[in-house]
Amino acid sequence: MKIVFASHNQKKAAEIRSVLPTGMTLLTLHDLELHEEIPEDEPTIEGNSAFKANWVLQRFGLPCFADDTGLEVMALNGAPGVHSARYAGPERSDDANMDKLLNALAQEPNRSAQFKTVMTYCDGAIQQQFTGLVKGVIATEKSGTEGFGYDPLFIPEDQDKTFAQMPLAEKNLYSHRARAMAQFLAFLQAKAV
Ligand code: IMP
Repeated sequence: MKIVFASHNQKKAAEIRSVLPTGMTLLTLHDLELHEEIPEDEPTIEGNSAFKANWVLQRFGLPCFADDTGLEVMALNGAPGVHSARYAGPERSDDANMDKLLNALAQEPNRSAQFKTVMTYCDGAIQQQFTGLVKGVIATEKSGTEGFGYDPLFIPEDQDKTFAQMPLAEKNLYSHRARAMAQFLAFLQAKAV
């Protein structure tokens, strides 16, 4: 079975491929030779996720799913949230985003945060969303080189290292994305019987 993932993000695609069952092949927008950016202008993570999935469905007529993710920091009232990618500006620089976050929390004792991923599947007949959450804290400095985005700053609950200090298989034990994927795969399995 082939499934289209409405994203150009090869790091996300690698995470998703690592939890797919044998026999399921993930196609990204790169595989479909679509190099245009999909707009991400909705006011919520749910809205952006649904928009991306429907945008690709309309373009290609293929069932597909999309992932939209945000980092919600409690002391910042949930920011950067839906604005996580462009927190420090339109360049979407991971380093600039993390530096801005470290500055925003410099005097803040409460470093609680969560990652939220909303996946949307749509095939023209059905649209369904799956939400994966992981709670944790924002470290006081960047550590690790694995992963992407805010991973060097995020320490999942009850752990002593950041996502960027974990190999992918270990990140998958706790991650928002792996949790959303588990629900999505269960849905696909139920749909197939
Ligand atoms: P989007 O879902 O691609 O819009 O991601 C929003 C922002 O969150 C971007 O800055 C991503 O790099 C970051 N992000 C998404 N997923 C993860 C993750 O698993 N770990 C760390 N940062 C992430």
